[in-house]
Formats: sequence, C-alpha cells, structure tokens
Amino acid sequence: MKQFKTESKRILDLMINSIYTNKEIFLRELISNASDAIDKLRFISLTDGKVNTDFKIVLSRDEEARTLTIEDNGIGMTEEELEKNLGTIAESGTLAFKKATAEKGEKAEGDESRLIGQFGVGFYSAFMVADKVEVYSKKYGEEKAFKWVSKGAEGYTVEETEKAGNGTKIVLYLKPDTDDCKYSDFLKEYKLTSLVKEYSDYIRYPIETEVTRSERKEGSPDDKPEYETVKKTEVLNSMVPIWKKPKKDVADKDLNEFYKNQFHDYQDPLKSIYAKIEGSVTYDTLLFFPARAPYDYYSKDYKKGLKLYCNGVMVMEKCEELLPDYFGFVKGIVDSADLSLNISREILQQDRQVKALALSIEKKISSELKKMMDEDRENYEKLFKEFGLAIKFGVYAGFGMNKDKLQDFLMFYSSKKEKLVSLKEYVDEMPEGQEFIYYASGESYDKIAALPQIEKAKEKGYEILYFKDGVDEFLAKILTEYNGKKFKSVSEADFTSSKEEQDELKEKAEKYKDLLKEIKEDLGDKVKEVRLTANLKTYPACLASGGDISIEMEKVFNSMPNADGSIKADKVLEISSEHRILSRLEELYNTDKDKLKKYALVLYGGARLLEGLAPESAGEFVTALTDII
Ligand code: ADP
Repeated sequence: MKQFKTESKRILDLMINSIYTNKEIFLRELISNASDAIDKLRFISLTDGKVNTDFKIVLSRDEEARTLTIEDNGIGMTEEELEKNLGTIAESGTLAFKKATAEKGEKAEGDESRLIGQFGVGFYSAFMVADKVEVYSKKYGEEKAFKWVSKGAEGYTVEETEKAGNGTKIVLYLKPDTDDCKYSDFLKEYKLTSLVKEYSDYIRYPIETEVTRSERKEGSPDDKPEYETVKKTEVLNSMVPIWKKPKKDVADKDLNEFYKNQFHDYQDPLKSIYAKIEGSVTYDTLLFFPARAPYDYYSKDYKKGLKLYCNGVMVMEKCEELLPDYFGFVKGIVDSADLSLNISREILQQDRQVKALALSIEKKISSELKKMMDEDRENYEKLFKEFGLAIKFGVYAGFGMNKDKLQDFLMFYSSKKEKLVSLKEYVDEMPEGQEFIYYASGESYDKIAALPQIEKAKEKGYEILYFKDGVDEFLAKILTEYNGKKFKSVSEADFTSSKEEQDELKEKAEKYKDLLKEIKEDLGDKVKEVRLTANLKTYPACLASGGDISIEMEKVFNSMPNADGSIKADKVLEISSEHRILSRLEELYNTDKDKLKKYALVLYGGARLLEGLAPESAGEFVTALTDII
C-alpha cells in the first residue's frame, strides 16, 4: 500500500468527510477530466492516423453492486502517471486550493468544505460520493494497462491489469445512503441524465448511457399500437453549446427557450443578447434582461451573478464578480478559454482576467441598455419599472462614483408628457431661460400631482419630474446637476418670474410682516419660518423645506427600520399671497389673536396633510378646526 502525498491526503480527508451539500459536482469533474483526456488524444490524432477517433464518454451503472462507471477512450495513463497524477496533488487547479487552505490555517475545516464546490478539486471529488475508487487506465500506444485502487485515506495500490482499448475507466463504489445524502440516486437514470444536462451539456464529446425507453413494437397495427420496454444507448448531452453556434443558426426563440430553461423563468426575457467578444479577453456570452424582478430581488437574499464556463465546462453557477450590483438583474452565461478551470473564489476577486471580463461585460450591458432605450423604448420602460431602482441605488452608492456612467439610464415621470422621460430628454426640451430641472416628491404620482406647489409651476409651463421613490431626492443631491442644469425642488423654487410679480410679493411681505411674525410665534418650533409665496394657486398654504433635508427625505429616514424620528426637515409655512385667507388672517390679527392661533394651527396641519404628513398632534388639529367651524 502506498501513501498519498501530504497535501493530497489533506484534500482527500476533506472529500471523504465532506459535509459539502453539492456532492453531485463530482460527475462534472470526472467528465471534464475525461473530456480533457480525449482532447489530448484528439490532438495526437491530427498527425497519427491510427487513433480511433470515435471519441466518447460512457456512463454505466450497476444498482446491485452500487457502482457508477465513467469511461473514456482518451489518452489514458501509464503506471507512473497514475502514481503521479492520482497520488499527488495535481499542480493545475488544486494548487490554488492548497494555498487558500494554508492561508486559512488548520481550523477552518467547515470553510474548507465550503470551498470544495468553488474549487472543484478534480479527481478527488470522487471520494465525496464513493468509499472505494478503481481506476483502470491504458495509455495510448502502450501495451500494458494498470489499475489504481484506493479506499481513501489509507493509501492506494497500483497493479497491472487487463483493459481492451486506450483510455480510462473509473469505477465508483458509492457510499451507503444516509439521511443527508441518498448516494444511490446517482445510479438512477433520471438523476444521471439531469446532472449531465445541467453541468456537462456542452462537453464536445458524446456522453452516453443506457436508458430505458418505451417504444412502439415494430409491426404493431396503427389502430392498436403496442409498446415494449427497450434498453438503448443514448447521448445525454447536446455537445454544442448554443453560444458556440454561429449567430445565424441561433433564433431569438432558441435564446428565449434557453433562458427559461436555464434560469427557471416562465416568461420570455425582455431582451436576449448573443455576443462573441474579442479583445483583452475573448469570450462568448449570452445575456438576458428578465421581464420581471424576482420576488427577492430587492432583498439581501438575492444573489446576482453569471454562469461561468471555461471552454464549455461549467466552473461556477453564479459568478458574482462578473456583474456590478446595479446590473445585478442581468442573467446569463459567459464562456471564456482565458480562465483556468479550477479558478478559486479568492483568485476570482483579484484575477486580472476576471476583472477584464467583468469590465467588458459591463460595457456590453451598458451599450445594449442604451440601444434598447433608443430603439425599443417600450421594453426599456418595462425594464426600468422593474429594475430602475437598482440603477438608482447604483447612482447613489459610493457617493456617486458611478453616476456618470449611469445617469443616462435614469427615467422619471414627467408632468408634461405624462410618461417616463430621461434626464437628457428633459434638459433638451427645456424652454429658453429655464434654469433648473424641477422635481416634486411624494409617495405616488397622484399625490405629487395634488401638491399645492405644482399648480403654479404647471401654469408657468414648466415640466416637472415626479420623484416617487424614496431614493430619488437623494439622487438629485448626489447628481447635483445634469448637463449643467441643477436640480431644484418645486417647493424650494420661486416661480414669480416677472419683475412686477416680485415687487408685488415684496410689498405684501412688508405689509403683513407683523401678522407673519405672530403666526410663527403661534406655531413655535413646528416651523422655522412663516412667509408669503406667490407660487400657490388654489391652496391657501403649503410647506417648504428650509434646510438640506427635505420633507420627503425626512419621510425616507423615518421609514427606516431603526429610525427614532429624530431626523426632521426644517419646515417653512408658506401662505399664498393671492389667497383671500390672507385678509381674513389680517382681520383676526387685529381683532382676535386666540382665533388667529387656531387658524394658524389648521393652516399648518392642512399643509402637512398635503405633503403626506399627519398633523403632529391630531387632537390639537381637530380641536382647532372644530372651534373655527
Ligand atoms: P486536474 O484535472 O485539475 O489536473 P485532477 O485531480 O482532476 O486535477 O486530475 C489530475 C490529473 O490526472 C489530470 O491532470 C490528468 O493528467 C490525470 N487524469 C485525471 N483523469 C484522467 C482521465 N480520465 N484520463 C487521463 N488522465 C486523467
């Protein structure tokens, strides 16, 4: 009995005792090894006419003996190679694993087994499902075949054996079933079939297995067909990945079907992108913009990522490094030959190739979004309704570090067009002399449309963007401007544009100075200031914010889970300079200050209601109101 090399033994231990739930990846690993071995022989066959090029990988199962066999007719291994390759840790992929586990230290056992899936430590993963592994191998061009056997940690033996053709046959003696894992499932036709479909569909060589099919008996009459159960060999994989097919052979319908199958969606995507990219990294990709946000999209549970393939072999189910958060809704696959098959999570984060890949993918997504916005507006709007919030958070995140690349994807509802418009469209259509991008915030479009400040702005012919999402106003603050035009809330804007209007307002402010002071005193800390405004039409009064925090922002802060209500916008009560309430207030100021206070409370409470805020004290408000009535 020979001993495994130290590192190999550690990994082997890990595999044997693995609590890793995704044990099924062993099949992907073994099939991928078989495919590599065939690749090597295929290369030789280019110059050697004697090679049998009927390449294939055969899976066979024996339920009684509990064995699963994976056989290839590839290059095979000599005695020395069996020793070297299976007795020692393989340099290529497992090296990364070695490094990572060394860095993590001895104690990180649980972590290690979590790493298995991400590393895919090749051949040794067989020990996750088998307690004994036999490898029969005959190197192409050699006379002798050898058999490598191991029951795991104790070591392994190598001896001469008989084997017909060149290649490798791996026999797995499956572990006894446990509550956690029914290993015998791997002997079931459906399980094997679905695993191959899921992980190895695009392997270039046929993966065959014997299946049971019910078929019509030959010669049985049409009106009374008879069926019989037959066993036949079937190829389980499609061999050609859809993204490797020439573009002209791939219809939109195929892409949509592929999307629905792969990503378990019942709806067609809004857009399917098929691209072959050559540049600093070369890759094929299929990207999809889903039609609907998954139910958990805006929660912590949602995991973004693209399916990563290396030369047709799936390396990672969801590689999150390939997508920025704000494009996290994009689904798809990426296949590049420039990556190592056994790339690790640690390596992923620093890997230059992966970074270049991510950058290139982001560019592709951006350009497709732009195109969609210009050419397929209806679908873009649908997309924005589902995922716009993610893009908005992207603008806001990191103090606006990505705002330049994202601002053109933003859309807001326009008061004038009564539909979504982009900032560019808004600014391009601004009338001469308009200085600002006007917005108004509220919980819903209806509520915003009913805001008192809106009327005057509309009357003046200004287009107003409706900010309905909590993040919108924060966005305006982060963006500060678009194309040189600053954002301005209608509640802070002054729409008295003509000189006469301004003079008139000033005059009135002077005239009612004492009244306004009295009202401010009546309201105390509730407001920072009381002033006149010419911006209102029908309503007598409204609230404006007097500081950096707007009333909408106050609402957002206070709706956060651990809000204590301490963040408050400075509020300014604005009374309409044109409303007849003004003369009534003046009258009370001179005759009945008690009643004036009640009026003040009602005006203030009403202004709060218009902003979607409840009066601070409902009792005080209702009492004042009743007294007046
Ligand atoms: P990796 O595939 O990352 O190199 P493995 O542990 O899976 O690591 O395999 C170790 C080595 O064993 C491979 O590099 C290959 O040389 C050899 N090997 C594994 N499976 C086969 C096979 N089916 N046919 C020929 N060689 C194989």
